[in-house]
Amino acid sequence: MALIDLRSDTCSRPTRAMREAMAWADVGDDVYGDDPTVKELEAETATLLGKQDAVYMPTGTMTNQVGIRAHTEPGDAVLFDQNAHVYLLEGGAPAAYSGVLPRLLPGVRGIFTAADVAAAVGQPHPFFPATVPAPVTLLCVENTHNAGGGAVWPLERLLEVTSAGRALGLGLHLDGARLWHASAATGVELEEYGAPFDTVSVCFSKALGAPMGSCLAGSAELVARARRFKQQVGGGFRQAGIVAAGALHALREHRSLLPEVHANARRFAEAVAQLDGVDLDPAEVETNIVRFRLTRGTAAAFAEEAHRLGLHVLPSGADGVRAVFYLDISPADTDRAITIAAKALATL
Ligand SMILES: *Cc1c(COP(=O)(O)O)cnc(C)c1O
Repeated sequence: MALIDLRSDTCSRPTRAMREAMAWADVGDDVYGDDPTVKELEAETATLLGKQDAVYMPTGTMTNQVGIRAHTEPGDAVLFDQNAHVYLLEGGAPAAYSGVLPRLLPGVRGIFTAADVAAAVGQPHPFFPATVPAPVTLLCVENTHNAGGGAVWPLERLLEVTSAGRALGLGLHLDGARLWHASAATGVELEEYGAPFDTVSVCFSKALGAPMGSCLAGSAELVARARRFKQQVGGGFRQAGIVAAGALHALREHRSLLPEVHANARRFAEAVAQLDGVDLDPAEVETNIVRFRLTRGTAAAFAEEAHRLGLHVLPSGADGVRAVFYLDISPADTDRAITIAAKALATL
């Protein structure tokens, strides 16, 4: 039996129809700005997100980090949730590439408050020279939140936090690698989620089934600046239309399938939550990521035993486990994953 791979929603494989679309894509040279498929993807993504323009890049890490670079100057301070992907899981790029200082916000499952933003920026006082502290110039938000177990930002909270940031003169960047999932789960349009932000990064390989690629959307001016930094980091990828065609196919054909993906994740969570030795609140499983804690044994031992039995999940810390659902995981795979999780738990 094939291994059920729930390590990440990036483990999806392109479908036959997607490969067909990629095989026959019109292409040009992305660096010269004349790849028609890339341009089509950029325009369609910008429209969906309600922005003037968008720029396609190979990875979500690149769109986030180029986005941060476009907003800041070296020495600036940037507000991140303490468990933000851009801060924790992008190879130290904010420091190494943009030369910015992180200021961390105490989010709960990645969701923080307007008061957290105000406290992190602080109050200037005329007795103290404004040139001394690092200026805070950017606020980053992640929706859905990866480390937060795919948590969706409530729209009201999102608007509070972004208006607080705006009032403090901050640039606003949304790491929306999984924004598709937020929208599919709540029915809130992508455009509405994107509206408060200057830049929005979205990922076509996060459960949409495209082999790779992300877009950074924003105002014409910010996207033009981002295009310069994309080139600087070697992101000009020539006949990129071949992979952009996979992303376009995903955007058009696969977004409507996400509710089924979420249903599988929810069913897995509800079953695993019943098992002895597991701490999991299924109500926290809002999208395609399931995170749970083991109350006995180690996450490493569980993951290794599950792997031996045919289920690939990731240990996260000493007792945390992550399982991520995507299009390739069928209801039957979900059933088998539940059975294997129960068997692996029994061995701990
Ligand atoms: C995966 C992910 C990224 C990075 O995307 P890559 O294409 O893997 O570089 C950024 N942000 C979040 C929230 C992610 O989950």
